Amino acid sequence: MTSVKPQPEHIACQMGKSPEGGIFRFPVRVGGVMVKDVNPAVEKVLALQEQEARKLSLESQLRLIPQEVAKAQSRIDEEKAAIEADRQRLKQNEVHRLDVDKEMKSLEAQVVKYKTQQMEVKKNDEYQALTHEIERTEGQIGELEEKEIVLLMEQDELAESNQTTETEHQETIRLFEKEIARMGEQEAGVKAQIDSAIAAVEAAQAEVPADWLKAYQRVHQRRPKPQWVVPMEDQHCGGCHLKVSGEVEGQVLTDEKPTHCDSCGRLLYKP
Ligand SMILES: [Zn+2]
Repeated sequence: MTSVKPQPEHIACQMGKSPEGGIFRFPVRVGGVMVKDVNPAVEKVLALQEQEARKLSLESQLRLIPQEVAKAQSRIDEEKAAIEADRQRLKQNEVHRLDVDKEMKSLEAQVVKYKTQQMEVKKNDEYQALTHEIERTEGQIGELEEKEIVLLMEQDELAESNQTTETEHQETIRLFEKEIARMGEQEAGVKAQIDSAIAAVEAAQAEVPADWLKAYQRVHQRRPKPQWVVPMEDQHCGGCHLKVSGEVEGQVLTDEKPTHCDSCGRLLYKP
């Protein structure tokens, strides 16, 4: 809701008393609509409500920022974990390949050993047995060589794809880091706006007549969220939309005193 200062043509009238000697009323703009005959106290209390609502909205914006920062940070952590997982896969491949290599070298040494033994044996069947062992071991070496080639190819592929995906992960990390920095600036901005909103609330409070301020604060204590002051239309509360009693309606229409909805307790005014 927006209340606007009275137009210049009304100012002269406001200074004096109305012909009937009662409280002078003047048209105000509330929520973009010209409203006639609004009690000045209501105008002040609506202005206070507007400032408080603004302050609350800024405060809820501020509360959301750390959650957003935490979300961005967890995305950064995920990206870093993905980079690390890729690196580990490459490392495991290398470890596996080195194991194969080691096994191959040990089998090659075994072949050399068999060949040396072969030169020393005298019997033909012993010689044949060693020949068989040499062939069997060489077969194993051949299999390991193939395995090593596959692992080497996999290593090349992994290294290449890791390079591409790491670039993408790093780019995403940079974006989220930028986002976190931006939210830090936003947080400082919102804090400054809250400071000025607090000052505006205090200034608006000082304008509200004491009885209206007391009634307003009572509603405010019970209800953490706006609206606290609502229009009464066609005998219905603009907050809870329930029908108010005839007594309440009469008070709102005729009284200058603050009147509460008999269902929800919000302050009512005649729009
Ligand atoms: Zn109500």
